[in-house]
Amino acid sequence: EKKIKGNFIKTIITEDLERGKNDGRVITRFPPEPNGYLHIGHAKSICLNFGVADEFNGRCNLRFDDTNPAKEDQKYIDSIISDVKWLGFDWGDKIHYASDYFENLYDYAVELIEKGKAYVCTLNADQMREYRGTLTEPGKESPDRNRPIAENLDLFKRMKNGEFEDGAYVLRAKIDMASPNINMRDPVIYRIKKMSHPRTKDKWCIYPMYDFTHGLSDALEGVTHSLCTLEFQDHRPLYDWLLDEVSAPCHPQQIEFARMNLNYTVMSKRKLQKLVEQKFVDGWDDPRLPTIAGIRRRGYTPAAIRNFCNAIGVGKRENRIDVGLLENCLRDDLNEKAPRVMAVINPLKVTIANWNQENCNSEQKNDDKSQQETSCGSTLKIESLEALNHPQKPEMGTRQILFSKHIYIEKEDFMENAPKKFFRLAPGREVRLRYAYFITCKEVIKDENGEVIELICTYDPATRGGDSPDGRKVKGTLHWVSEEGSIPATVRLYDRLFLNEDPEADRDDFTENLNPDSLVTLKGCRVEKSLANAEPEKVYQFERLGYFCADSKESTPEHPVFNRTVTLRDTWAK
Ligand code: ATP
Ligand code: MG
Ligand code: MG
Repeated sequence: EKKIKGNFIKTIITEDLERGKNDGRVITRFPPEPNGYLHIGHAKSICLNFGVADEFNGRCNLRFDDTNPAKEDQKYIDSIISDVKWLGFDWGDKIHYASDYFENLYDYAVELIEKGKAYVCTLNADQMREYRGTLTEPGKESPDRNRPIAENLDLFKRMKNGEFEDGAYVLRAKIDMASPNINMRDPVIYRIKKMSHPRTKDKWCIYPMYDFTHGLSDALEGVTHSLCTLEFQDHRPLYDWLLDEVSAPCHPQQIEFARMNLNYTVMSKRKLQKLVEQKFVDGWDDPRLPTIAGIRRRGYTPAAIRNFCNAIGVGKRENRIDVGLLENCLRDDLNEKAPRVMAVINPLKVTIANWNQENCNSEQKNDDKSQQETSCGSTLKIESLEALNHPQKPEMGTRQILFSKHIYIEKEDFMENAPKKFFRLAPGREVRLRYAYFITCKEVIKDENGEVIELICTYDPATRGGDSPDGRKVKGTLHWVSEEGSIPATVRLYDRLFLNEDPEADRDDFTENLNPDSLVTLKGCRVEKSLANAEPEKVYQFERLGYFCADSKESTPEHPVFNRTVTLRDTWAK
């Protein structure tokens, strides 16, 4: 894995270090609000914050900005922790919570009031909007703006003590109602919310607003560089104002970078929620979603995601990244790491006519364990062949695969009236079965509808292992499994969730752009027996077919279910 590419944030930090700013410390943080599941966009922020800290020998805190109990839940906290860990990052011995600072934040609010920089206001939400003004018109000052300090202190304490109903009062910073930046027009910093909090329970009935909490929490943690997405650029003056006005331990620097957007998918919480709630997908961890839980279940690896986040870099301009780039990072990683196995997803039965014939009676006394009783009373020979787990990496070892009279090949690998250039199986033609023998197609059996249901072939015993001693060449090598060496399985072929690069394009409702073929479920596939106990999320290359992993929720040894992680090549490339 490479280091994070050079970018403007690293340049800023390098210069800060050269100037001796922050005494040479680099502390960043990843600050999710626990109100939803993480997606691949968050991974960019995670890789950036943890990556930068690591590269400058600093530290990155995982901090939950848990200031809104109405929208937050322990299940989100748990899933975010598990996702960050899975991505391979380490936040040290302590997880931070903004709610740990509620006491400090209250004190900062009191400090502002004492300085005449905050006041308790009675305007309701509608009035507040009206007084706020517009981009072109300055706002109006609240009638409460000049309330005496002592009265503000008293009211704020009584807000805290639960004397008032939700919405009766708010605490506002006293900044500038004529500021061209609307965020500076006396923003609300505390509101009454008589609601239990996942962590502080019923201790508080007033909660600090996100903007107030965020920068002060950064300062309390000694964060040096507070990296966030571009939509917070207009909030930076407020971030700095608050840190200047209260006696914070330090003044972190907020630096904004562009969000990551991907084509053929959606990432906003509201849209993901709609897909889940209206059952267009099967839950938040549906393998088609860009959630970390979804791509993980699909078989994506943490290394592929980290490499992707590194490859796309960090900039100041929003753009839409091609999901093909993410898929290529995944292929690069899986090509290195995924063991090779064989599976047949559209099986066509092949019977080897000359298998076992000469041995039928003569080998009966052989006590080889791989012999089975057949219905005719003779024994059916089963041969064990050696296969490489990774042809380019001998250190990954070998495994035994079984060959016998009845095998399966891919329907697609047979053609009755094949053109010359079709190098797979056709009547009278010879192909190689990977790691096994050359076979020749002698007879085609069809059902009453004319559909091919079985091939009768012969094999050449001299070609064991895949080469002919007489130097005879065959062009095609097919993957296969034998009846005895395989088990039935369900295979789910996943594809892009949307038909359009921009799912919003040309439609009022983005769900009209969903790809109807984003999931194709194939039953009656056959996979190598060794896959019965495939570990969920561990990816294998099914030779010639793509990368697949056992589904973490639905696969069992009795009924294996495999998800296609990604195809072998980019089938979407023009
Ligand atoms: P969403 O609404 O998409 O869930 P959010 O901004 O509400 O995102 P937060 O929990 O506030 O989610 O995000 C935690 C951190 O992740 C923030 O610093 C945020 O800027 C960053 N982040 C969120 N989405 C992206 C993205 N698409 N690209 C890069 N960083 C992102
Ligand atoms: Mg979020
Ligand atoms: Mg947010």
